Amino acid sequence: MNDTRELIIIGGGPAGYTAALYAARANLEPLVIEGFAWGGQLMITSDVENYPGYPEGILGPQMMQDFRHQAERFGAEFVTDDVTKVDFTEHPLRVWVGDTEHTAEAVIVATGASARQLGLESERSLQGKGVSYCAVCDAAFFREKEVVVVGGGDSAMEEAAFLAKFANKVTLVHRRDEFRASSIMIDRARANEKIEFVTPTVVDEVLAHDGQTSAVRLRDLSTDETREIQAQGLFVAIGHDPNTKLFLDQLDHDEAGYLVTKQGSTETNVEGVFAAGDVVDHTYRQAVTAAGSGCMAALDAERWLAAREGHAATALAAPREG
Ligand code: NAP
Repeated sequence: MNDTRELIIIGGGPAGYTAALYAARANLEPLVIEGFAWGGQLMITSDVENYPGYPEGILGPQMMQDFRHQAERFGAEFVTDDVTKVDFTEHPLRVWVGDTEHTAEAVIVATGASARQLGLESERSLQGKGVSYCAVCDAAFFREKEVVVVGGGDSAMEEAAFLAKFANKVTLVHRRDEFRASSIMIDRARANEKIEFVTPTVVDEVLAHDGQTSAVRLRDLSTDETREIQAQGLFVAIGHDPNTKLFLDQLDHDEAGYLVTKQGSTETNVEGVFAAGDVVDHTYRQAVTAAGSGCMAALDAERWLAAREGHAATALAAPREG
């Protein structure tokens, strides 16, 4: 029995589940290998207030459950585990979860990106309780509060400036005296009287009161002295890494490891392999943009499969020579 599927989707975030929804409704019976920790970055977000259609906002994990449920309703199947190996060198395409091999004519890669973390236990336990990795998503919760932003790149400058529209005070903490950010972004942040630069300094600990972030302990690297500053929010803006380790030797990618797709499409360099969401996008990184590109990938895959079947049907119908 040939159990090769038409479509496998790798990834269980907004892009993967949206691709699954569209593919399932197109009768492609997709298998979604959603990852052991399915849901992606929204699982470490609290309220999502900027996703259209949720006027009262929604908790990130609840939204991901809704996305998943909607795809399931139309027949998507799920494997709640991590892909361990892929082989896209020939068709059918091969995808492994441990010792179990799955094959498909087409694959959508939607494995997302992960915000870099400082690596503190207190940071992990306070995620969604004052610790955030996305100012655009969460700044509005810090109206008239005090927040700390960590990082010295363009993201940190941009997030500090954005947060300053809401918060009373923004302390920008960076481990070096020099910044990676462009000078225009630095100048803009420096000109903002709500933003204070503190360097060369790192965050030693995030402190909590009643389960919510209440202060941050900073360590000055030039003196090794520590001090606590009041902060209801800690925004970690030290970059993102695309989750592409499994694909780097087979799919075209840029220097930072983000997958590269053809202009105006979700096609990768391998026939039948498509990519969507944050795994290709280091610019917008929003749930709604990821969902949009997941939809595009499903439509691209559907058309590609239909064209392929059309070719196969034509080949079968063609009179044989000889
Ligand atoms: P980035 O440029 O890689 O900067 C990351 C920053 O975080 C660096 O300053 C780095 O410090 C610091 N960092 C890294 N690991 C750290 C750790 N464990 N503890 C403390 N600090 C740490 O990342 P990004 O700012 O997210 O920018 C990514 C790309 O997007 C860049 O190309 C950027 O120009 C672009 N971007 C552009 C805009 C814009 O133009 N509007 C906005 C956002 C991002 P060191 O410098 O010491 O390594």
